[in-house]
Amino acid sequence: VLRGEQALISDKAIDLSDIGGLQQPKISLQKAVEWPLFYHDSMKRLGITQSKGVLLYGPPGCAKTSLVCAIASKLNITFLSISAAAIFSPYVGDAERTISQLFRRARLSAPSVLFIDEIDALVGNRGVGMHKVSESVLSTLLTEMDGVGVKLEKSIGVEESFQPKVVVVAATNRPNLLDPALVRPGRFDRLVYVGPPDRNERLDILQKLTKKIPLGPTVDLEELAAKTFLFSGADLSHLCKEAALLAMCEGGMLVDSVEQSHWLKALDSMEPSLSQEQIDSY
Ligand code: ATP
Repeated sequence: VLRGEQALISDKAIDLSDIGGLQQPKISLQKAVEWPLFYHDSMKRLGITQSKGVLLYGPPGCAKTSLVCAIASKLNITFLSISAAAIFSPYVGDAERTISQLFRRARLSAPSVLFIDEIDALVGNRGVGMHKVSESVLSTLLTEMDGVGVKLEKSIGVEESFQPKVVVVAATNRPNLLDPALVRPGRFDRLVYVGPPDRNERLDILQKLTKKIPLGPTVDLEELAAKTFLFSGADLSHLCKEAALLAMCEGGMLVDSVEQSHWLKALDSMEPSLSQEQIDSY
């Protein structure tokens, strides 16, 4: 049994059109996943060196996980997701075994995306005590990544044919904590920044998040977008829930719409989870 199996999610469908903003990351990530899986011959013909892995980085709650999941769903490929914290183990060899099992599972369900969230928890620079464990885990990870990327087709006389079936995507909120060995060329060398939403993106996210909420005539999403500086997408999602709950508290069980006053009250009780300092650090 795969340790941390409960953390492994597949078939969690999210539609790309439900993710607001992030136009550039959507395009970059889709290419980074789709091209090696489906257009590797063209890439090889043009001499494009294949990345072994894609690293998404950026502040928490800004849709890194949702993006990978939605792209896998759009491409109709398997999405396997695990948090690196669930793989980590203080017992020698344990984390390495889990990683190998994960890759095996990903190969068996190929074409697939193997998503490793919070990769810094697994192979971060976490001081002298952790160093040995990290090194062996890192080397297992890199060996497994080599294994999914290349397949020898000696039987049909072709030299070395590139046939990736699994794309590895990792995510971190703290890229500066990553072991530099991980982001060297030929490893996680395709970096995609998933940043905080600006005002227009917040409006787009709010419009998407409120698609299923009955909005009263007073609701002004533009005002909310302007007042939610430093809110992540996850914060905005939380805000929507809070506003709807307030509407229910105030209007009773039969209430059928959420008004601007509910949003503003919910907003008063919330702090953004992002900070300018944190954003500037990327
Ligand atoms: P973490 O770094 O904490 O793992 P993350 O960047 O992976 O976070 P997600 O887990 O994808 O972020 O997002 C959390 C939730 O926030 C999503 O389930 C979704 O409801 C909401 N959300 C975040 N960003 C967006 C967005 N751009 N559009 C719509 N919903 C969003």
